[in-house]
Amino acid sequence: MSQSFQPIDASAVPRFAGLPTFMRLPHVTDPAEVDIALFGVPWDAGTTNRAGARHGPREIRNQSSFLRAVHHVSRIAPYELCRVADLGDAPVNPFDLQDSLAKITGFVESVVAAGGLPLAAGGDHLCSLPILRAVARDRPVGLVHFDAHSDTNDSYFGDNRYTHGTPFRRAVEEGLVDPKRTIQIGIRGSIYGAEDMAFAEGSGMRVVYIEEYFMLGTEKVVEEIRRVAGDGPTYVSFDVDGLDPAFAPGTGTPEIGGYGTHEAQVMLRGLQGLDLVGGDVVEVAPPFDPSGNTALVGATLMFEILCVLADTFARRQ
Ligand code: MN
Ligand code: MN
Repeated sequence: MSQSFQPIDASAVPRFAGLPTFMRLPHVTDPAEVDIALFGVPWDAGTTNRAGARHGPREIRNQSSFLRAVHHVSRIAPYELCRVADLGDAPVNPFDLQDSLAKITGFVESVVAAGGLPLAAGGDHLCSLPILRAVARDRPVGLVHFDAHSDTNDSYFGDNRYTHGTPFRRAVEEGLVDPKRTIQIGIRGSIYGAEDMAFAEGSGMRVVYIEEYFMLGTEKVVEEIRRVAGDGPTYVSFDVDGLDPAFAPGTGTPEIGGYGTHEAQVMLRGLQGLDLVGGDVVEVAPPFDPSGNTALVGATLMFEILCVLADTFARRQ
């Protein structure tokens, strides 16, 4: 059955025309009308160094006009499987961090309460915490986390515990994420101290440093992702700095020596069949992305996640 929401066909209306929405889908404001809600979180108040990810959603929408309707490998056609639309942006307050966290959670709760699956474009990585507070309110979820950084530090600049370097420590402390069903892929770069990874490793997270990623190879890492996530509800979070900055330079905290875009696509496709409950692509920072390529990467990775989410949704019906 063809679903109600379809993207504008680029063979009929050129990609550079019209209002930019995610994947050229309709902008819908009622969460009850959608099965998978694409939305932006234009907020980077958790950023410790180079800000700019607040501009991510708008530019990812623009670059998402490149995308077509069917996945070329899996042949998943998400807009045939379920109702997918652009729900707009979560409300944020650039001058009040806690108010923003509450507003974002409230927005995602409206999606979850309507039975929808959220797929967000950040924003910095702190955006994942308020989303998880809505998605994992009733039980902890597993986490597939692509990133150069573990994001499990405790605090910054004194006792600031809510930053883009701390969301997954908070998520474990709050009972939102099961660390034993969590896998981090691509961790690298210099660290503040030798004990920086103690929380992630001590809590039982499976940390795949980039050295192990290259030693195992992408296919073996996919097997490891599926083993760790298992059968339970699982959230996927993709920080574009997990990619090598040759592929995604437009981000606040680049780290050399990462995986490529194709490898990332293969890993995301490898999530098909997991019990996915939502996802995000974060840390696209357009001020550092003059060519727009990083936003195109973000949009394309969103499409990869959308396809496996749509497959999850369809199999539940
Ligand atoms: Mn991150
Ligand atoms: Mn990162």
